[in-house]
Amino acid sequence: MYKLPALDAVKELKAIAVLTSGGDAPGMNPAIRGVVRAALSHGIRVYGVNRGYSGLIIGDIWEMNSRSVSNIVQRGGTMLKSDRCEAFKDPAVRKQAAEILRERDIEGLVVIGGDGSLTGAALLAEESGIPVVGLPGTIDNDIHGTEDTIGFDTAINTALDAIDKIRDTALSHERLFLVEVMGRDSGFIATQVGIACGAEMVVIPEVEFKIESLCFQLANNRVKGKGSSGIIVVAEGPRSGLTYRIAQQLEEHDQAPRVCILGHIQRGGSPTGHDRVLASCMGAMAVDYLRAGYSSIMVGVQKGEILDVPLREVLERNKSLDREWIEMTRLLHK
Ligand code: ATP
Repeated sequence: MYKLPALDAVKELKAIAVLTSGGDAPGMNPAIRGVVRAALSHGIRVYGVNRGYSGLIIGDIWEMNSRSVSNIVQRGGTMLKSDRCEAFKDPAVRKQAAEILRERDIEGLVVIGGDGSLTGAALLAEESGIPVVGLPGTIDNDIHGTEDTIGFDTAINTALDAIDKIRDTALSHERLFLVEVMGRDSGFIATQVGIACGAEMVVIPEVEFKIESLCFQLANNRVKGKGSSGIIVVAEGPRSGLTYRIAQQLEEHDQAPRVCILGHIQRGGSPTGHDRVLASCMGAMAVDYLRAGYSSIMVGVQKGEILDVPLREVLERNKSLDREWIEMTRLLHK
């Protein structure tokens, strides 16, 4: 259960809009539903914007009702579609987007997406004065100011489901598997997945990778009677092909690992109960923040409490993986 802030409504809003942007994440649908249902219950009209900022800049906007969000709470992806829109980086295009919102009496916008989408949200709010509230919608959990993001829990569980199956084969054939999970710049997914699947080792961007350490660990495992099967979880890292490069290095050290790239399956699928609750609460709270007169904030969660974090703070700081998590993965490999 999250502790929810009690906010006093200071603004009578006629209409608000909601969009999803950047990579889709499981839980975006319950977040949209939370926004729509909360707004309607306060007598606020709600517009859905199709395809993120791409739809916003051409006015691809439609009025939603309670039935528009029926039967979506359990669905992955986003019913409003998502997109990456280079044009939105142009201030003149953002000005045009603000005019489109004003023409429809839209007095608040909820943006659900990752740090790129939240950057666009902050700029739109600052330049136009239209109140904007962001929700952290990304499987990567790499957004400063919130301990959790919409989609992270589902992505971990999807990866675990796949790895548990891979382990059956690894054990049966006494084979080593390198399993690549998402996480270009961070090991948030890889560390949690590594701990939960009992990986023999986790390779993450935050820690320099040395093939010698991996070979030493594997040799040690054999001495301890662990056999030659195993799972090594690899975060994809900033340059593609890392997992294949590690496999090649292992082959040069007389190992014959198999590679499995989990890829986009981690982004799809039915959101877990955890993500449905998180997304629903964040969506509903976004409406409360707009009614209470907030703007340029992201709804985050810290120590079990839903709270507001200024978007500028979110965007200016990087979220780094706690050393304790890295130590925990090491401790559990032994
Ligand atoms: P994820 O990384 O989880 O897929 P994201 O929201 O970070 O999600 P991006 O592709 O970085 O994904 O950004 C999504 C969209 O946000 C961009 O296509 C663009 O429309 C907008 N955006 C990103 N950066 C900026 C920026 N600097 N100024 C204005 N808009 C931006």
